[in-house]
Amino acid sequence: MANKSANWFKQVGQTSNPLRQRRLRIGVTGLSGAGKTTFITGLINQLENHRKGLLAQRAPFDRLESVRWRRDDVKRPFPYLQSLAALSATPAAWPDSTADLSRVLLDLRFKPQGLLGRLQKGKELSIEILDYPGEWLLDLPLLNLSYGQWCEQMAQWLGQPPRAELAGVLARRLGEIDPVAPADPILLAELAAEWTDFLQRCRSEAGLSRNQPARFLQPGSDVAAQMLHFVPLLQANQHTAGAADSWWALCESRFNYYRDFIVRGFYDEHFRHLDQQVLLVDMLAPMDAGQAALQDLKHAMEAVLESFHYGQNGFLARLLRFRPRIRRLALCATKVDKVGPRQQRAVQQCLEDLMVDRLADVRHGGVEIKGIPLSAIRATRQEGEALVAGLEGKTGWVRYQPGDIPEHLPQSLQVSSPELLPLRPPPGLHRNEPFPHYRMDDLVAWLLQGERL
Ligand code: GDP
Repeated sequence: MANKSANWFKQVGQTSNPLRQRRLRIGVTGLSGAGKTTFITGLINQLENHRKGLLAQRAPFDRLESVRWRRDDVKRPFPYLQSLAALSATPAAWPDSTADLSRVLLDLRFKPQGLLGRLQKGKELSIEILDYPGEWLLDLPLLNLSYGQWCEQMAQWLGQPPRAELAGVLARRLGEIDPVAPADPILLAELAAEWTDFLQRCRSEAGLSRNQPARFLQPGSDVAAQMLHFVPLLQANQHTAGAADSWWALCESRFNYYRDFIVRGFYDEHFRHLDQQVLLVDMLAPMDAGQAALQDLKHAMEAVLESFHYGQNGFLARLLRFRPRIRRLALCATKVDKVGPRQQRAVQQCLEDLMVDRLADVRHGGVEIKGIPLSAIRATRQEGEALVAGLEGKTGWVRYQPGDIPEHLPQSLQVSSPELLPLRPPPGLHRNEPFPHYRMDDLVAWLLQGERL
C-alpha cells in the first residue's frame, strides 16, 4: 500500500510539474553553412503549424493537440524570432548562421489514442533541440593527441596542397620559431590571428572542412580569447620539451587547456545527454567545388561520425569517460530544392557513398541511421524539367536547368556538378503558415518514432 501511494504521488508529480515531463533531447549539427539555423527555424515552424501542413495528415501528428515554443527559462535560446524576421522580410533573407550552441524547448500535447483514450489523459512530450556547430566535433581527435603530436600532424598538412599554398608565409614564420627559445606572447597572439585567417581561407577559398582547432573559427561564447592564443610550432615534435617561459611551454599549456576543458567539456556537459542526433550535410557545394573539397568533406565527416561510433574499437569508448546515449542518427543532405525532385535521392546517395565505411562502423556500433534528403525551406518551384527561383540580391525570377547528379559518387570523386545559384528564400513566408519544404514531415515523424504518444 505504501508503495502504491508513493507511485501515485510520483505520477501526479510527473504530470503537474512540467520539468518532469518525458523529454526527448535531439542534437542538430552540421558544418558551417550546412543549413542548421534554417532547419531549426523550419522545424519549429512545421510543428507550430502542424494543423495545416503535411504533418496534419500523418500519425501521431493527427492527434497533436497543441505545441508550445518555450520562450522563458531557456538557457542560450535559439534565435527563432530573429530568424523568422529575416525570412519574412521584404525582400526575404536567410537567417544568420549558427555560431554558438543554442537551445529550443517545445512542449507537445497529444490527444489520447483509441477507445480507452477518452479515459486517459493526453500524453505530453517535451522536445529539447540542441544546435551546435559540427566543427566542434572535428576536435574530437585532439583528445587523443599531445601537443607535440598535433604539431607533427599540422606540419604534415601544411606540406601538402592546397594548404601549402594557402598558408603562404605563415608556414615559413611558424617553421622559423625555435620551440625552446623564450616565448613572445605578443607575437604569439599575432600568429594565432594569422592561423585563424589561414583556417578561414582554407574554408572559403578551398572549401576545406577540417580546420583545426575548430574553436578558432567558431569560439562559442564561453571561451576566453586568450586561451586560443596558441599555434603549431613546426620544428616541434612529440619528444620536444622546453623551459617554463619557452614557446613550447606556453603553446603546450594552452593546447592542453583547449583539449581537456573546451573539447572534453562540450562532450561532458552537452553531448552525453542527447538521445538522438540530426546531422546535416551540404553535399552540393563541395560537389560544385571539386575533388579536393569532396575529399576534405569525406575526412571531415568521418571525423564527425567518430562521435557516434560506439563500437568496441570506437574512438569514443576510449576517449570519453561516459557511455553516450545517442542511438539514432538522421543523416540529411540539405538544400536539395536546388536540384530537381528526381535528383534529390541521388544527392543523398552520393553523400552516403562518400561515407560508406564510417556509416557501416556507426551502424555496427548499434546506432540506427536514417538518410533523408531535405530542404527545410524550399526556394525553388518546378516547371517541367526546369526550376524557377529568385536570386539573392536581385529582383525577378530565373528559370534554369540544374543539370544532372550521378546516381552514385564515382570513387575518383570527380563529378560534374549541377548548376548552383545563390537563391533567396521564397517570398511570403509567415510564422503562422507552414513553410514550403521537402521531407521535413518525414524527418519529424522519424524523430518521434518509438515514443509512446
Ligand atoms: P548553418 O551555418 O548550418 O546554420 O547554415 P544556415 O542555416 O545559415 O544556412 C546556410 C545557407 O544555406 C543559407 O544562408 C542559405 O543560403 C542556404 N540554405 C539553408 N537551407 C536551405 C534550404 O532549405 N534551401 C536552400 N535553397 N538554401 C538553403
